[in-house]
Formats: sequence, structure tokens, C-alpha cells
Amino acid sequence: SQKLTACAAATAQAGKKQKVAIIGGGLSGLSCAKYLSDAGHEPLVLEARGLLGGKVSAWQDEDGDWIETGLHIFFGAYPNMMNMFAELDIEDRLQWKDHKMTFAMQERPGEFTSFNFPPNVPAPFNMAAAILSNTEMLTIEEKLRMVPGLLPMLTEGQSFIDAQDELSVLQFMEKYGMPRRINDEIFIAMGKALDFIDPDKLSMTVVLTAMNRFINEADGSQTAFLDGNQPDRLCAPMKAHIEARGGEVRTNAPVAEILTREEDGSVQGLRMQDGSIVTADIYVSAMPVDVLKRLVPARWSTMPYFRQFDELEGIPVINVHIWFDRKLRSVDGLCFSRSPLLSVYADMSTTCKEYYDEEKSMLELVFAPCSPLAGGNINWIAKSDEEIIDATMGELARLFPLEIANDPRYPATSKQGPQGQAKLRKYAVVKVPRSVYAAIPGRNKYRPSQETPIPNLVLAGDWTSQKYLGSMEGAILGGKLAAEVVADKALGTARSTSRVKVVPRDIVERAAAVE
Ligand code: FAD
Repeated sequence: SQKLTACAAATAQAGKKQKVAIIGGGLSGLSCAKYLSDAGHEPLVLEARGLLGGKVSAWQDEDGDWIETGLHIFFGAYPNMMNMFAELDIEDRLQWKDHKMTFAMQERPGEFTSFNFPPNVPAPFNMAAAILSNTEMLTIEEKLRMVPGLLPMLTEGQSFIDAQDELSVLQFMEKYGMPRRINDEIFIAMGKALDFIDPDKLSMTVVLTAMNRFINEADGSQTAFLDGNQPDRLCAPMKAHIEARGGEVRTNAPVAEILTREEDGSVQGLRMQDGSIVTADIYVSAMPVDVLKRLVPARWSTMPYFRQFDELEGIPVINVHIWFDRKLRSVDGLCFSRSPLLSVYADMSTTCKEYYDEEKSMLELVFAPCSPLAGGNINWIAKSDEEIIDATMGELARLFPLEIANDPRYPATSKQGPQGQAKLRKYAVVKVPRSVYAAIPGRNKYRPSQETPIPNLVLAGDWTSQKYLGSMEGAILGGKLAAEVVADKALGTARSTSRVKVVPRDIVERAAAVE
């Protein structure tokens, strides 16, 4: 952002204010617009839906309860997100939790165990202390047998991490002789939390990327919850910031087609679904890869840069909310469920200020894996809401037999049932058939740079090339990097070499064969 502030001054001097049309009002499009407005440009965000936020969008049901697209956790190791909160002056909206990782016990239903990170101990010693002091999940021998696989991450850094992208978590574990129980105890939960994928399908780079941040920064793995719904508490201040600086954020504005200029194939304008045309100096796509694939103009479709997109696709995930008729014995923070169907969850009636309820719990749970691409063999994303809730309640009753009832005489969706245990009061299921890009082995190299071979087109989005995974941090950073490319273009900064990332050879060869 320092660079962009410098750009703001330079832009004012040079008078090169650019009108920038940004397609997509998720965090990445909003981040791009925010930094462009800081730099003195004029962003116009075009969001297809009636609400902002994309994968962090949320809406209210008839009782006024919020339904979220996803349970969202912020990590200490999200520097760009933290800058954004500081720049918007809304840091007090992050509710930081005790620095620990809490797991439901596999063999002791209803009980939890934690890795507690001691305060005031520098990284990586705080993590070492957290791992060594927990005696309930791994034996000393198992902990020691993790070291050979994780040591190169410390000694060789990012190049080692990137090189592991061709291996799944299980293949990596086999290569480094890690005992299978580490997978069962730790990596299944981590993989499902980070990318909604089981470890036999997940790239090891994902796990190492997260661990690397956690071992390098003392508070890297500390978690925070937003103090309320994301549209009001995060997207609205981003929109206000952009509009206060002369930009515009438009909802209900779906882009139907990217029009190209006959003479050079650059972007001529955007045809909106209502038939109107939007024109700008520069265009940014902040759409998910699955949508952008469909909007790539025929003229560009044989170019290797755009052919890379075929190798990326969104992974399905389901976000489940269950309101109970009483308060559960809950943890104030994130829990790893350790169930084959569920990933992380939180009792939002305890954890989130806006959803606080002293008498009745609301569990928000991430249901994963949801399709054979992500693991398992059931295509949950195609099942009905009732089937998903019945399966979730079955798992909760198994995990918390003393607290949660799932009496087969009363379907989970029924409000009746045995006394003494918590029963479902109402529920909401949000299916996201294409969420973050599936980080299966070998995908990282196909993530495109923000700069594209089309002179007036720039890409943003959590899936574009940046050092964070498909995440809120990745979305904010992708948007910021896109804004930097735009700002450089506006200044006419001549680059000796193009920053368009080199397209892998297999794609170049395939594209050549098609032409
Ligand atoms: P999106 O949010 O997908 O935004 C793209 C936008 O483009 C959308 O608003 C869409 O409507 C719009 N659009 C699409 N087509 C058009 C069109 N033709 N015209 C105009 N607009 C269009 N991340 C974390 O960091 N921590 C978490 O705990 C976490 N948990 C998650 C849980 C779930 C269940 C899910 C689904 C995601 C989670 N994520 C988490 C990931 C995070 O939400 C995403 O990485 C991030 O929000 C993506 O932002 P984005 O702007 O890149 O994409």
C-alpha cells in the first residue's frame, strides 16, 4: 500500500486518472477498488448479485438471523487483511480468541483437546511448546517422526514448499516416513479446514504453506472472528471508503460479455446483462475462475495464458447452520471436528458478538469433503438440504452423545424428540458448488499472474498467483496486486520484462496443437 500511496501522488502530478471497471464485488474486487481509489483512480465495481461479498456474503432469514455463505476465520498470519482493517479503522471488529487449536477427541466423544501456544514466546518455539505439551493426540515418537519432513521447510523455505505441489499429503508422508496416525490425527482436519479436501487428494504445498506462516510468526496461527455479519462489518466499510474517494460500487450489475476490439483484441467494453455497455480505461476481472472461463472471449481462447484456466476449478463445500433449543457446552473459538463429514465449526452464539445468545446455541459448521473430487465417495453437494442436515445431526450426536439428540424415531428436522439433550430448532444450508480453486496436486503452477497478455485487462481473485492459498487473505492480496498492475499501467511505467507469469510448457504445447 506504500507503493500505491506513492502512486497516488504521482498520478495526481501526471493527471493520469484511470477509470477502472472491476467485475466482481467479492473481497478481491473490493480490495482492488479500495487501493485504486487510494491511488487517485476511479474504480467502478460491478457485482452481479444484489449483495456484496461473494463467498463472504450473508443475508437474513425471516427471523432476522444471519445466514452466511461460509464460516470465516481470520489468522494472525493475514498481513494484508490486517492492513485493510487498520486502514479502514475497524480493527476493533476482530474478536481475537485464545491462541490455541482445539480438536474434538476421536476416542472420547464430547471431549476436546488443545494445542496451547504460550504467550510471549517467539515463533517457532511457541509452536514447539504447543505440540510438545499436548500429550493426548500424538506420542513423542510420532512427533519426532514428523521432523524429517518438516525440517526442509525451515532450512530451504519457499522453494521446498512450492516443489511439493506435485505430491498429495499422503504421498509426502510416505516419502518422509511419517506415521499414518499423524494423518488421522492432524492432517485430515487441517486439509479439510484449509481447502475442504481430504489428504489423499490435497497438495502438500497447501499444508506446508499454512505451517510455514504458523512457524514464522508468533501469532500466525491465532484466530479471530469478525464481530458480526461480513457484509455490514467488512464489505460496507470497504464500499464507503471507495465511494468517499470518487469510486462506485454497483450491485445487481451482472456482466454478460467481455467485448474485444477488432484491431488488436484488447477489451472494448463490457456488455451488461441488461444490454447496456460499460466502458473504462482498464478492466479487472475479480470473478472466480469457473465464471471467468465462461466469459473468456473466443478471440483469446487459444492463448496459453487463458488455457491455463482449464486446469483450475472450484471445489464444492457446504456451510451448515443449526439453531438448537438450548445452550451447548461450547468452546469460545474454532473447533476441528474430526468427523469424516464435517470440517471446522464454531458455536456462534458464544463466539461472535452479533450472534451472541446466552440461552440457545447456533452451530455453524463446514461440511466437507462434499464430492469425490475432494474425497469420500458421496456427492453431498447434489443431496437435499434435509439429507445434509440428517447426516450432520447424526455426526453431532455421535461426537456429543450426551448433549445432542439424534433419535431415529424423530428425524433431525423434527422439533420433537427425547428430553434432556439439545434438539434442532431450525437450520439453514448454503451450498457452494464452486468455492475456492481445488488445490489438488500440481495446480499451483497454473495460477495466472494478475498481469495478462491483454494490455487493458488485469486479473484479481483469490485463485490468481500469490503466496497465500484460496482464502480471504489471498483475495485481498490478489486485489492489491491487481491494483498495483493498474497503477503501473497508468503511470506508463516501462518494464524491462513482462510480469505475465510464464505459462507451463504442457499448456503452451496443447494450445499450439489446437491452433
Ligand atoms: P468471490 O468471493 O467468489 O467473489 C467473486 C464475485 O464475483 C462474487 O461476488 C460474484 O457474484 C461476482 N461475479 C461473478 N460473476 C460475475 C459477473 N458475470 N458479473 C459481475 N459479478 C460477477 N477464507 C479464509 O481466509 N478463512 C476461512 O475461514 C474461510 N472459510 C470459508 C468457508 C467457506 C464455506 C467458503 C465457501 C469459503 C471460505 N473461505 C475462507 C474462502 C474465502 O471466502 C474466499 O477465498 C474469498 O472470499 C474469495 O474472494 P474473491 O473475491 O476472490 O471471490
